[in-house]
Amino acid sequence: MTLYAELHRHLGGSVVPRILWRYFQRNQADLAERFADYAEFEDFYTRPRNTLAEYLELHTLVESVQTEDTLPYFIYRLMRGAYVFENLAYLELRYTPYLRTPEHLSQGDRISLMSQIVEVVGRASQIVEYPIVTSQILCMHSRLPYEVNRAIVDLAAARRDVVCGVDLAGGDGLYGDRLGEFIRLYDYARSLGLNTTGHLYETEEGCYPELLPYLMRIGHGIQIPLKHPELLPQVAAQGQCLEVCPTTYLKTGTLQDLHQLKGVFDRCFEAGVDIAICTDNAGLHNVRLPFEYETLLTHDIIGFEELKACQDAAFRHAFAWTHPQRPELILSTILRADAEPSEEFPRSGNGNGQFNAVAQEVTESSR
Ligand SMILES: [Zn+2]
Repeated sequence: MTLYAELHRHLGGSVVPRILWRYFQRNQADLAERFADYAEFEDFYTRPRNTLAEYLELHTLVESVQTEDTLPYFIYRLMRGAYVFENLAYLELRYTPYLRTPEHLSQGDRISLMSQIVEVVGRASQIVEYPIVTSQILCMHSRLPYEVNRAIVDLAAARRDVVCGVDLAGGDGLYGDRLGEFIRLYDYARSLGLNTTGHLYETEEGCYPELLPYLMRIGHGIQIPLKHPELLPQVAAQGQCLEVCPTTYLKTGTLQDLHQLKGVFDRCFEAGVDIAICTDNAGLHNVRLPFEYETLLTHDIIGFEELKACQDAAFRHAFAWTHPQRPELILSTILRADAEPSEEFPRSGNGNGQFNAVAQEVTESSR
């Protein structure tokens, strides 16, 4: 049995439509009553949107019901589904803790409450019967002020026991005016020794080479091989991994046809750039990780060998996976007494070690 690592999943987009519908029926009947039946709700929730901005609007619907009190309900079901249906051995869950605090409170009070949210998510995701190695990525947000984003970085640094990195989310079209601010925040995060990823080069509006040096992984990054292939050698040299989420680009109108992804994979493989295949919003899409794999195979975008390379890359670039091997290799050694001890990952120069050295130089030279 293959076990998988998921590196890019939003807590808000991880609630599958059936779970959200049941929650509305049980707890917020007014929201359920807006729809004639479940089928109408599912269609509304999962249908493609025209733009990334329109698509991100949907997150606010889920964020509004994911509060300190209800998070354990949703996270329990998320972990159960990930274990039973997706064979996940490793999961990084990302979200903006500020957006789970009560809206009517002051900014200062909401910032203070963020640590409680992180604690609740950390506790709720440790479930004995669903033993997935899990950690949180805290997302700075392009619509939130600098003070809030800086507090998110500080919180990530303070809770390394349950948080493994920081991200920048909220729509890459909004970075432009505040680019200097986001560079400062990433520089600060790196100076604290935090792992970094960021939504970048997802859409044509989100291409900011200035941010690239600060990222250990690139959230999406598909516009690099598609429109800026000249950057690939630099991405390979820094050992940065692309978190490619196939279904997202069809749901956001970023790509019209899945086959456009063939260019992404082919060019990355050729340049030695690692790709981890991820779901982004498995619930919102109603598409779980194994189906993302299968879709890429059946559309001849990648073959089984490339799939294995991407699955290896996911574990190798996972911020909180501490083992030198994929989990099934560890298991087979235990289960089969006659098995040779399994090999470690091939570390072909794209590991994080190399990135760290480069990033350190970047951080120091930009101070
Ligand atoms: Zn995302």
